[in-house]
Amino acid sequence: MEIIAAPREMQAWSEAARRRGETIAFVPTMGFLHEGHLTLMREGRKHATRLASSLFVNPTQFGPNEDFSRYPRNFDGDCAMMRTVPVDVLFAPEPEVMFPPGSQTWVEATEVTRGLCGDHRPGHFRGVTTVVAKLFNIVKPHCALFGEKDFQQLRAIERMVQDLNFDLTIIPVPTVREADGLAMSSRNAYLSAKERGRALTLCKALRAAGEAIRAGTRDPQAVARAARKTIEQTPGIEIEYVEAVDAASLRPLEKIDRPIVVAIAARVGATRLIDNMVFSVPS
Ligand code: AMP
Repeated sequence: MEIIAAPREMQAWSEAARRRGETIAFVPTMGFLHEGHLTLMREGRKHATRLASSLFVNPTQFGPNEDFSRYPRNFDGDCAMMRTVPVDVLFAPEPEVMFPPGSQTWVEATEVTRGLCGDHRPGHFRGVTTVVAKLFNIVKPHCALFGEKDFQQLRAIERMVQDLNFDLTIIPVPTVREADGLAMSSRNAYLSAKERGRALTLCKALRAAGEAIRAGTRDPQAVARAARKTIEQTPGIEIEYVEAVDAASLRPLEKIDRPIVVAIAARVGATRLIDNMVFSVPS
């Protein structure tokens, strides 16, 4: 696996690969890899002849009181995991290279980043779309893979690619879960054993929402309430939001007559976790 830190060098690598007629799949990450990331990478291998990944803990997507400085890092371990896939090239820049003093251009998907996490993490998605736009210009992939785990992020990036005519395909990948249902996340590393047990409630709440739909509920608010009730029965979890919205636009809907996403953000101790599931009404 080649490791590249300079944008110009990464662009040259990709240009050379493209001239040889290769295609490039790309999986951006913030590192501290788990099976979720590796699933995206293995999927990426199926869509192109070369696989690129990036490791960059993007300071612009963290709020002033968020966990940027303590975000878990393990560069050597991540490289070892990437080599098992295998990843062909890793782009791992320093923050000063990605955002040098004087940077002032931002990319923002507006409507799709309202509601859900967008309301609770001001500036977060603007940081995400900006860094992903930069990464696309640096890595020049033919396709890029993103997890449904970060559902609003996926929708914001799809919107950006469409609105700004990026010449690449976004491939969504379903959420990878632990055997008991907990959605894999680098932030799970923050959880104590007790908190890990409580965190499982997010997945249980989403399943309860699915049950409500299967039982015939078509009111999105009632579906969200079913999920909320499950969480409220577990001590030690503080709900940030529980919402059932249109899975395409992420806007509220009157009645469940098309696919919806039920999305949850909650704090387990000091750790903020998110999870979601998409449900379609049985025809
Ligand atoms: P991160 O390193 O958290 O920025 O995540 C990098 C990519 O991996 C994003 O596209 C995430 O949506 C995706 N990802 C993270 N966790 C999971 C998971 N449990 N299942 C599927 N994709 C995931």
